[in-house]
Amino acid sequence: MKFVDLDAQYNVIEKQVRESIDQVLNHKQFIMGPEIAILEKELSNYCGAQHVISAASGTDALLMALMAYGVGPGDGIIAPSFTFVATAEVIQLLGATTVFVDVDETTFNMDAGKLEETIQRVKSEERLNLKGIIPVDLFGLPVDHNAVQAIANQHGLFVLSDAAQSFGAEYNNAKVGVFGEISTTSFFPAKPLGCYGDGGAVFTDNPELADIMDSIRFHGKGVSQYENVRIGITGRLDTLQAAILSCKLKVFDEELDKRQVIADIYHNELNRFVKTPTIPEGYKSSWAVYTICSPGRDRIKQHLDQNGIPSAIYYPSPLHHQPAFANAVGAGEKMPVTDRLAKEVISLPIHPYLLPDDQLKIIDTIKTAIS
Ligand SMILES: *Cc1c(COP(=O)(O)O)cnc(C)c1O
Repeated sequence: MKFVDLDAQYNVIEKQVRESIDQVLNHKQFIMGPEIAILEKELSNYCGAQHVISAASGTDALLMALMAYGVGPGDGIIAPSFTFVATAEVIQLLGATTVFVDVDETTFNMDAGKLEETIQRVKSEERLNLKGIIPVDLFGLPVDHNAVQAIANQHGLFVLSDAAQSFGAEYNNAKVGVFGEISTTSFFPAKPLGCYGDGGAVFTDNPELADIMDSIRFHGKGVSQYENVRIGITGRLDTLQAAILSCKLKVFDEELDKRQVIADIYHNELNRFVKTPTIPEGYKSSWAVYTICSPGRDRIKQHLDQNGIPSAIYYPSPLHHQPAFANAVGAGEKMPVTDRLAKEVISLPIHPYLLPDDQLKIIDTIKTAIS
């Protein structure tokens, strides 16, 4: 049994992937080859965002977005305390200061009430120039985008939506990629839509920001490649990865449906024993991982390990307790929900090719561990 079974998926898509890779090997335009524009158009059609700029990773996608906003020293950018390091890493990398906000205990996403409180606090301290919010759709479930956007509008802050885990998910009948002024995602192999290396993308309906990020992605190019109008990065997606992603996009919706079936079975079998994820009305998760919550987490983990069942703990040590974020607002403070979740969460296999017998074994093992 595997946590993410890339072998099983490869068995389904092998022929297309090999043909697509061969095409790239034939034309040899490894950087910005024709597959890049094709993929960007496909992603735009898929999620409804007008401009899609593929990127070297989900982290570079976030970095390019913050650079487009001109974020730098003295600026404060808000991020949840319960997320993958990259969300806040890019803020610090640009010399800005992360402002941590605790999450909601049922959705695991940024808590709108605490967001408002934190904004008031930072504004009253007058130390940082508060510029934007990076909400994260954790584990595949979209954040309450209307609530976050309303608060952002009220305070004149940008919303950069970190959808690294939630590509394919929905909120109020719209697909992830259209929320916030800019959204980003990751194509890291273990994400819902993954490539065979590092990859990511930026989504926006704002043409000016799209142009700036397109330039940043390519060393700050101007009209021509050798005109340098700003400082940029090597932020491009490889042509090979674009070719692979186009193949995977064709089976993506089918895979999302399979993840949903597995999630429903987990919910029905486990919700009397542990806290299973709640998906609010109007939301659809991409089920990047299936994360349960229990005070008996360590015992569950031990039983799963003993039975050879893969599991993962996202995230055992929250960012506001990490040395790299010692200067952040909220560093070392109590974030009660995040601090408790770090001790109680455990993520179970939910890849689309999980076999029914294997899922039964996972469920039985958890029930035994808990009773
Ligand atoms: C994976 C992830 C990223 C970074 O993506 P990479 O492609 O690995 O750089 C950023 N934010 C979140 C929430 C993630 O889960």
